[in-house]
Formats: sequence, structure tokens, C-alpha cells
Amino acid sequence: MTMQGVVEVECEACYATGLYSGFMEAEGEAVICHGCNGTGCATLTYTKFTKRRPKRGIKWVRESRGTFIGTGVGPVGGRITYADFKKGKRPRR
Ligand SMILES: [Zn+2]
Repeated sequence: MTMQGVVEVECEACYATGLYSGFMEAEGEAVICHGCNGTGCATLTYTKFTKRRPKRGIKWVRESRGTFIGTGVGPVGGRITYADFKKGKRPRR
């Protein structure tokens, strides 16, 4: 069963003001934010985590170097089987 939730969050496009003023608007003038229709409120839909899902076609698991291109991406260190990973093991870095 998939549990979904909805939360009300500040609209990031207008910093929850409901208004937007950029370089196209005259001094002292704003337009109604498209992101939230002027309410300042955005809704965020999420799926509540219950358990880790299986990933198809995977035999081996390694640690990641990172997600930032400046420090490097891709796998690093040793590898373990996917079955071991599912049992809670982690590969050596
Ligand atoms: Zn907005």
C-alpha cells in the first residue's frame, strides 16, 4: 500500500508573498505569482517511506564517490553482492 501525504509549504517562487517582481515590473509594482496563484502557499505531495524497494538488474553494489562533480562522481572502493547489501552489509571504501 502506498501512503501519500500532502503538506502546505511556502511557495519558493515568491518567498510566500504571493507576488513576484522582477526586472520586467515597474518600480513599486508586482505581478501575482503563477506558482501559487497569489496565495503564497504551495502544496507538496510526498510518498511516505515504508520499506526499501528492490532495484531490478543489479548484481553488485559499491559506494559512491559523491554527487558533486568537483570532488568526483562514480563508484569507489570494493564491491559486494546486491544480496549482501539487502542484508545490511556495506562495501569497503
Ligand atoms: Zn508564489
